[in-house]
Amino acid sequence: MKINVLGINFDALDPKQALECGASLLEQTGFHYVVTPNPEFILAAEKDEEFRQVLNHADLVLPDGIGVVYSAKLLGTPLKGRVPGVEFAEGMLAELDRRGGRLFLLGAKPGVAEQAGANICAKYPNLVLCGTHDGYFKEDKPVVDLIAQARPDLLFVCLGAPRQEKWMAQFGPATGAKLAAGLGGSLDVFAGTVQRAPKIWQKLNLEWAYRLMKEPKRIDRMAKLPLVLFKAIGVRLSGGRKEDA
Ligand code: UDP
Repeated sequence: MKINVLGINFDALDPKQALECGASLLEQTGFHYVVTPNPEFILAAEKDEEFRQVLNHADLVLPDGIGVVYSAKLLGTPLKGRVPGVEFAEGMLAELDRRGGRLFLLGAKPGVAEQAGANICAKYPNLVLCGTHDGYFKEDKPVVDLIAQARPDLLFVCLGAPRQEKWMAQFGPATGAKLAAGLGGSLDVFAGTVQRAPKIWQKLNLEWAYRLMKEPKRIDRMAKLPLVLFKAIGVRLSGGRKEDA
């Protein structure tokens, strides 16, 4: 079931259901892609129609951020909770490991994808890391060709939003991957260059506050986020919902 939150159609799935869906996409023929929008995506998509279309055409749209979950609740159409992109990624790695499948990591600063790959291989020895590339390239074609030659089943695209989502929609089919996922800063987490919030912060839905504490320069980006909640309240009070056009 899809739940529309301020123009973006989210899948109402819990983390386990999201992984079951991801695993079944790995089995299907053709290219599929997963997006993990947070409140920043919602605000950006209001001003960027192409981004909104790319998000709404994804095969799986997972709510990565407590702001999305609160907004859905305020709109009177609750989601099943948060599905953090990095947790979805971890679950998909375990699934790929079970199948002995092939993984390509695209994104982050030079050296980060290699380190993330080494850590992933140590934890999931049955999967095949078939290639990595950093996210600071100018020409797309050589990167697409490199991925196609590596023949991945699963492709993590970590270029930051909205570039990673637009990149997957435009170039994903030519990579030959079965499933791509846009995962923001997840490679930095897998590489160990960025730490996730301790479990207690995650449980209290304060992961965003921990991130702000560690990276105070994000304040400008985060200051806009309560806007999403106010917009949801506005829509609810006016008696309507903002539906996908
Ligand atoms: N990034 C990239 N190429 C770029 C810009 C960013 O590969 O041109 C990477 C960046 O190094 C980081 C990731 O994209 O690893 C996500 O960045 P951000 O913190 O903006 O994403 P978030 O975690 O907030 O989704």
